[in-house]
Amino acid sequence: MTLLKSFKDLDYSEALESDKEAHEWLKLNDCRFGQLINGKFISNKKSKLIASLNPSNGKLLANIEIASSEQLDLAVEAARKAQPSWELLGGHGRAKILYALARLLQKHSRLISVLETLDNGKPIRESRDIDIPLAIRYFYHHAGWAQLQGKEFSSYQSIGVVAQIVPWNFPLLMLSWKIAPALAMGNTIVFKAAEQTPISAMFFAHLCEQAGVPPGVVNMINGDGNIGAELAAHKGVDKVAFTGSTAVGQSIRKSTAGQGKKLTLELGGKSAFIVFEDADLDAAVEGLVDSIWFNQGEVCCAGSRLLVQAEVAEDLHLRIKERIKQLRLGSPLDKSIDLGSLVSKTQFNRVNEMVKDGLKHGGEIYQACDIESEGNLYPPTLITNIDSSHPLAQEEIFGPVLVSMTFRTQSEAVELANNSRYGLAASIWSENINRTMDVAPKIKAGVVWINCHNQFDAACGFGGVKESGFGREGGKEGLYEYLKPNGLKSSKKATASLITKNPKNNAIDRTLKFYIAGKQVRPDGGHSIATFNADGSHAAFVGAGNRKDVRNAVSAASKASSWGSQSGHGRAQIIYFLAENLSVRESEWIQRLITLCGVSKKQAKAEFDESISRLFSYAAWADKYDGAVHSAPYRGITMALPEPIGILAQIAPEELPLLTSISLVAPAIAMGNRVVLIPSERFPSVALELVQTIETSDVPAGVVNIVSGNKRELAEQIVGHAEVDGTWCWADQETIASIEAISAIDLKRLWVHEDSDRDWLNPDQGESLEFLRNATEVKNIWTPYGD
Ligand code: NAD
Repeated sequence: MTLLKSFKDLDYSEALESDKEAHEWLKLNDCRFGQLINGKFISNKKSKLIASLNPSNGKLLANIEIASSEQLDLAVEAARKAQPSWELLGGHGRAKILYALARLLQKHSRLISVLETLDNGKPIRESRDIDIPLAIRYFYHHAGWAQLQGKEFSSYQSIGVVAQIVPWNFPLLMLSWKIAPALAMGNTIVFKAAEQTPISAMFFAHLCEQAGVPPGVVNMINGDGNIGAELAAHKGVDKVAFTGSTAVGQSIRKSTAGQGKKLTLELGGKSAFIVFEDADLDAAVEGLVDSIWFNQGEVCCAGSRLLVQAEVAEDLHLRIKERIKQLRLGSPLDKSIDLGSLVSKTQFNRVNEMVKDGLKHGGEIYQACDIESEGNLYPPTLITNIDSSHPLAQEEIFGPVLVSMTFRTQSEAVELANNSRYGLAASIWSENINRTMDVAPKIKAGVVWINCHNQFDAACGFGGVKESGFGREGGKEGLYEYLKPNGLKSSKKATASLITKNPKNNAIDRTLKFYIAGKQVRPDGGHSIATFNADGSHAAFVGAGNRKDVRNAVSAASKASSWGSQSGHGRAQIIYFLAENLSVRESEWIQRLITLCGVSKKQAKAEFDESISRLFSYAAWADKYDGAVHSAPYRGITMALPEPIGILAQIAPEELPLLTSISLVAPAIAMGNRVVLIPSERFPSVALELVQTIETSDVPAGVVNIVSGNKRELAEQIVGHAEVDGTWCWADQETIASIEAISAIDLKRLWVHEDSDRDWLNPDQGESLEFLRNATEVKNIWTPYGD
């Protein structure tokens, strides 16, 4: 391949890595791959094929058979059958196999690097020095976690069979991010590579046998989005881990709604690269090279939105233009190029069209050399003179295109950075540590890099917020995505019946109001519902909430945002005070529980005592749930900080109404969230009676809000509310299915359960760290440190 026009005069010749061995390996496999099912390679001559092409020259590398639905069933069945013994093998047994995989990848790293570059078009320098070593590190690191599983995760067990679907931009690396933690924690897998880049996964499939992975533990199917959709929705799968576009993430959220599957979504991004006037500008320019021109910009967390302080914008733009003149495009196998081919003609055309269309809305483009469609070479590009509503500033381009905007003040920088539907990553460039440490927590993203960008490691969690998805990969936080707590009951229908139909009398006319913004308020629609005691006698009326009440409650929660920045110590004091004020009402509460729920005095006392104890526990955790400092192999430290999610909607279980209300609200507010509680439909008065205690305990207005009524209707309204950041829900299957489907629109974080899934009186189930993890989102902040 010739180099681009602007480089033709330079004295460079190509320094090509040999692809001989890679082609020999492909030929050995007849340049055709089927499926890996139950430890065997299955080929069907009649299968439909997808051509896997070398994007730099359009030549065929291999034909890939599209798996049939029957083959998919066989793969899931094989994974199901293999799972119990894989889990029983124990951490040490699994550690040895993960270690063997790491060693084998290392042994073949040169060949795999070449295969990856041939298939994807990325520079050999990057596959050789970044993708493959990092993938190997994932297997080593997770061999370690498998070994430690018994000690570190003794109260958790494997999830079962997991479906894993990955995109084309880092084929083997994404495979390792998925497969290594899932295997380490005792799950079995049905994996699907991207249809554009399946070859390194097929090489890995061959290594599985050599490493002693038992048949059925890793199954690999090939094909496009159709088989991907079938895999995600397959009834035999317990969890789906998906990396790819936000649109497909939304469709998976919809198709799996109500199936009771655990889901993690690692989706798109439009990450901010924020340069302050006191930054080292040369370092920032090099950071941009590693950020938006790494992997041709086909990186989910690429710093594709440059935000530069106005004082230095002109200077920085000039330096960027100078620098991109030096970047070399060319044959991906050339060891001295900086950018290779985009992954396919389709992707090349997409980037090209997006830029052309985008420029119709204004903006100035700078490219140091021509676009060359032969070889899918798209040059590094800088676009200036646009504002943050411009389509090129909002949409993910997924190519080597940097858009630049300016800001004047620090707060404007934060506002611009957060003005995106995505929330994957950001980097902050400044020589002033106070400034970086002030801005980092304000950025709504899962990862923040300080004076660096695109740093990844197996020890550090990666993942997004907002429409960049939910869940983490890597770090200890990533392992919980492949575990579930021990001893939860299998899902079953709610045991409590709904409101008793035949009241014995209507003697007391008491109406309990909602609790919104620190005040007791009447329902907007003026409607109330009668609630009844266990013996059928009338207990009280409670308000029947509607959309407007939900809106008011969320708006009150939104105004109470300073709760999240209170110290843990401050929040603890308030939760202790709640416990103290509740405990003085012991006899009143015990009597209420007996009358309302029809339980014995002993049972009511047990529920009350456990409620007080639970408040004490979460008051204790409020300043002790710390996060971690991850040790990654670079000169720096990575702080994994649990941050509050924001506004949490909580749909309460139908049983033990005092204890379950407290078990939901206390961990959420202890971690700095504000809540809107939809109480149990059978016993709504309990949560509303708690208001008196909340009012006397210094809980700031808007931190806890309570709206009663039809649980399903309220749940659907609140999940669809744009300002709610996450939802916890205990309900019937239909309600769960409905809110999961609604959440697909903006990919809100959900934690859902069928009623009666646990023994709330048992602290191991009703009070575990799982509650704190679900009340927080981990932000990984990478900071250079030491020498
Ligand atoms: P894509 O969503 O089109 O495809 C990703 C994978 O999903 C492929 O294997 C594809 O076959 C499969 N797929 C397609 N439709 C499906 C469906 N309906 N159901 C199930 N599976 C389906 O994405 P892409 O174009 O291959 O990759 C680019 C996108 O991936 C970008 O948006 C990028 O930001 C994102 N990405 C995110 C991360 C992350 O960690 N957040 C990492 C890499 C890439």
